[in-house]
Amino acid sequence: MKPSNRVLKDGRVADRSARAGRAALAARAAAAGALSVAALLAGCQSVQTTAGGAVGVERTQRMSPLISEAQLREQAELSYREVLSKERQQGDLNADAALTNRVRAITGRLIPAAGAFRPEATRWNWEVNVIRSDEMNAWCMPGGKIAVYTGLITKLNLSDDEIAAIVGHEIAHALREHARERASEQLGAQVLLSGAVMAIGGGQASMDLGGLFYKTFFGLPNSRLHETEADRIGVELAARAGYDPRAAMSLWRKMMANGGSRGPEFLSTHPSPETRLSDLEVYSARVMPLYEQARARR
Ligand SMILES: [Zn+2]
Repeated sequence: MKPSNRVLKDGRVADRSARAGRAALAARAAAAGALSVAALLAGCQSVQTTAGGAVGVERTQRMSPLISEAQLREQAELSYREVLSKERQQGDLNADAALTNRVRAITGRLIPAAGAFRPEATRWNWEVNVIRSDEMNAWCMPGGKIAVYTGLITKLNLSDDEIAAIVGHEIAHALREHARERASEQLGAQVLLSGAVMAIGGGQASMDLGGLFYKTFFGLPNSRLHETEADRIGVELAARAGYDPRAAMSLWRKMMANGGSRGPEFLSTHPSPETRLSDLEVYSARVMPLYEQARARR
């Protein structure tokens, strides 16, 4: 398959196949009287959200037909507004204008690089905000809604290259739609547990997608597999944007020395530090030519 065919270009495409998937699921459920694991898995759509890139992330992903990209993005938007409004009320939203500008400038170089993995993502309605907090955290919601916490930058005294490493990693999660993949798994597990065939009957899922998104995004750590993919795509995004991809390694070393294994999403579940560092070493070396090219152009 060509990368352009694998990329879900917009919600409309996803919705159409989602309806077909739901109808197939309902028919199957009616015939069987209950959802079996096989039926549920058969109802999942195989997609590849991104092109492989120089780092070669080629895994085919499985998404529930009950959660379209457009729907999840809508929920992410609502959650993002809630977070921002809470932080604004506390006076913690973009309190340091210079730091906000710095993070926005770095992200502004990473976004065009995202086109190498997912062309239409360069036209997402990206947003970058900096939250004043001791927390060492950063995330990117579906559709490109980014938050970086000041604790991460100030406690670890991050360089621009290191900020690019962390933001690139978070952007990679969004490009790969890892949140939708995890929500799909969650939903599958819920349906199986509750035997909620009736809720899905006729294709009218009456689930709380907002709650599902929030729980998945903030409550569940990323899997080891998702972390590795985000690491690899992240170093390529940084390199293409003209940031030293090797900074990912100094970033992780700093985080391990300062943060232990608690808190930030990128430390909560991941390959062992040694595995992660050796993987980053291999992949940052692989994208060095892209970094050199980008630097020559600047
Ligand atoms: Zn991560």
